[in-house]
Amino acid sequence: MAAGRSYADPVSVEHESTSQHVETYLVSAGRPERRAGSPVNTAVEFTSTYAADGDVSYARSGNPTWSSFEQALGGLEGGRALIHASGMGAISAALSLVGAGGTVVAPDQTYNGTYDLMRAFEEAGGTVVRVHATDTAGFLAALDGADLLWLESPTNPLMDVTELDVVLARARELGVTSVVDNTLATPLLSRPLTLGADVVVHSVTKYLSGHSDVVLGATVVPDTDRGRALGERVFRHRTLHGAIAGPMEVFLALRGLRTLGLRFERASANAAELAARLADHAGVARVRYPGSGAMLAIEVAGDAAAADRVCDATRVWLHSTSLGGVESQIERRRRHPSEPESVPVNLLRLSVGIEHVEDLWSDLDAALTRGLGQD
Ligand SMILES: *Cc1c(COP(=O)(O)O)cnc(C)c1O
Repeated sequence: MAAGRSYADPVSVEHESTSQHVETYLVSAGRPERRAGSPVNTAVEFTSTYAADGDVSYARSGNPTWSSFEQALGGLEGGRALIHASGMGAISAALSLVGAGGTVVAPDQTYNGTYDLMRAFEEAGGTVVRVHATDTAGFLAALDGADLLWLESPTNPLMDVTELDVVLARARELGVTSVVDNTLATPLLSRPLTLGADVVVHSVTKYLSGHSDVVLGATVVPDTDRGRALGERVFRHRTLHGAIAGPMEVFLALRGLRTLGLRFERASANAAELAARLADHAGVARVRYPGSGAMLAIEVAGDAAAADRVCDATRVWLHSTSLGGVESQIERRRRHPSEPESVPVNLLRLSVGIEHVEDLWSDLDAALTRGLGQD
């Protein structure tokens, strides 16, 4: 491993050890130490290397901007975090915990990049046992003899929720390494490490950053012997495969994280209101909403072409891929050839932003009426 700050170096987990509410923690976490004249924000260091014999040595293994974000996210999830170049970079590093030829138990529908990566893992000789995300008994049965459990809850875009506590407890009993993609729930709704998960992965691109201006990922492991050993392997993967983040992107992500509490509160309230209204809309055949969070999906009362017309007709909602930004986004996921066929062709994924809910509603209502009226 390259010299420099080791992953095993102590990083304090502030959120656990203070009685602060999470909104307060988010504002203060990962700041430089307060002393006379100290800056309020961690500096962005545009440097590839450091003079010898200090805490940091070469910027591929670590740098102070990353450490600030990692400290903040580590505390939020209740563990030790690493920043990666993208969500997929983090997912690749976590999936590397299972050796070639191993067996992974995973939901039969996940974020399509993860789904594709698992397919590549199978092509290389690995085995993936796929279970429906809500089929707890199916997971319990599949875990025997598995090497790695992969969960995503809620799933993107079907919004299926897995009984994390039950499935993770069984994985732990059997010694199966478990990974949870916590991108959609965020640590504000779900903290899988507290339920026994070994690794949490995030697309930091989404809610944690929140402004659709960076692509980043993260892994978090518990601060235990087992967690630190896994974290060391993930750290080694990041350093040696080299999928690392630029310092400016991480600075922006940390700035975005400051307002996660406010953004998620507003977006979640908007999503709950829209889910209730959409359930009564003549243009909507089914609403998929897990009951909390800022994401939902609808199946329009029409075919794929009708769903496409709805996306084309919105003015406030941004027709685009991705999610978790301050702006509301709408997309028909099956327009991507890589999307699993279990996702209905007329399904629209809605990432609800922080705009005024009445503007979101009137725009969506009009787009649904226009899009479906042309049938
Ligand atoms: C977007 C997303 C990813 C991939 O993250 P990138 O930052 O785009 O690489 C992984 N998992 C989920 C659930 C996502 O929504």
